[in-house]
Amino acid sequence: MVAELISVGTELLLGNIVNTNAHFLAQKCALLGLSMYNQTVVGDNRERLKEAVSTALSRADVVILTGGLGPTEDDLTKETCAEVLGCPLAEDGHTRERIESYFKNGIYREIPENNWKQAMVPQGAQVLDNDNGTAPGLIMEKNGKRLILLPGPPVEMIPLFNGQVEPYLRKLQPEILMSRMVKMCGVGESLAEEMLLDLIDGQTNPTIATYAKTGEVHVRVTALAPDETVGERLIKPVVKEIKKRFGRAVYSVKEEETLEMSVVRLLKKHELTVTTAESCTGGMVAGRLINVAGASDVFKEGFVTYSNKAKRRRLDVNKSTLKKHGAVSRETAREMAIGGVFAADSDVCIAVTGIAGPDGGTEEKPVGLVYMACCFKDKVTVEKYQFKGNRGKVREQAVVRALDLVRRTVLEYCE
Ligand code: ATP
Repeated sequence: MVAELISVGTELLLGNIVNTNAHFLAQKCALLGLSMYNQTVVGDNRERLKEAVSTALSRADVVILTGGLGPTEDDLTKETCAEVLGCPLAEDGHTRERIESYFKNGIYREIPENNWKQAMVPQGAQVLDNDNGTAPGLIMEKNGKRLILLPGPPVEMIPLFNGQVEPYLRKLQPEILMSRMVKMCGVGESLAEEMLLDLIDGQTNPTIATYAKTGEVHVRVTALAPDETVGERLIKPVVKEIKKRFGRAVYSVKEEETLEMSVVRLLKKHELTVTTAESCTGGMVAGRLINVAGASDVFKEGFVTYSNKAKRRRLDVNKSTLKKHGAVSRETAREMAIGGVFAADSDVCIAVTGIAGPDGGTEEKPVGLVYMACCFKDKVTVEKYQFKGNRGKVREQAVVRALDLVRRTVLEYCE
């Protein structure tokens, strides 16, 4: 079943308001298993709205419109939809009573004349009572096509949709859409896609889609199924196959689990504590870890050692190491990580030192060069990265790789 959205309002076209209704409704339709190929934004103009409704009806089974149901002259959605479907408007006694009681219970006792316009409904339409405003929602059906009209204000639209439209759509589309996200780190999007090409090409149900995030790739596996048991049965073997192909690059198969959550989970599981020794990331790695509820079980303290002096004083990095190899070097990263373990008396320390730019780069050590080291008890792994992008981008990518290095280190030595 194909759904389409039409958001009505000149304010939307001018960029005066953000189209949060389309965002909400598109997500809801996807969860309900409805396919969506088009969305339209149209101003408060009868001819253009008429054209948009006719076009949408020619290619979708259900068209959901928001906005333009108000009492004023430029609110034209209901009148235009009625005209397109050829249904005359007639007063709905029930809605008239609701408008009266809405005003009786509100601050304004006098009912403005133009509010009665909202009691006029297309003949045969299903009226959806709006508890948060005067404009009712409407469902109109003709020749197997459906128009669903909802008021523009989200405080009115959302309860109407959740309470009355969602159950209606669920009956039309009994199948549900289920999805699982496979999240991985350290694999580029094009490589991930290449490694999944045969699965993507042969996909019907479930479908597979890749999404690139900073330093991460997420693969969504989505199945259309009559119920959760069948959905699970369809999704499970595909997720298993993806996990097999990407091995330890996969950090989670839970939609809500972030990289730092998986790191904290892993550290907790093995009863390990972690500390951070950061230079160019300036505490961002610690910040991401502390964002996770319950991080206090694994994280006690972190170090932001931006200057050479701080690296020496807090982490006991050798003066000669800094002099010979520089602050951004394999050797300094290594000593920072070891120093962090001792200074915080932790099991693990992740150290990051790099040139975030825009200044400070040389031919030998260009902007974007980052060394990171992870010390786990008496073992140290050092990695070198050359990131692209501006200062913010370089630092962001370094944080993701640093968190992932902690994860991979714990996996290597503990699992
Ligand atoms: P009302 O009965 O309040 O006049 P309406 O159905 O006529 O409602 P509009 O007049 O089109 O709706 O919009 C009213 C308000 O609703 C807008 O000023 C805006 O704040 C909000 N709104 C409308 N459309 C959207 C949208 N697509 N996304 C988010 N908010 C919206």
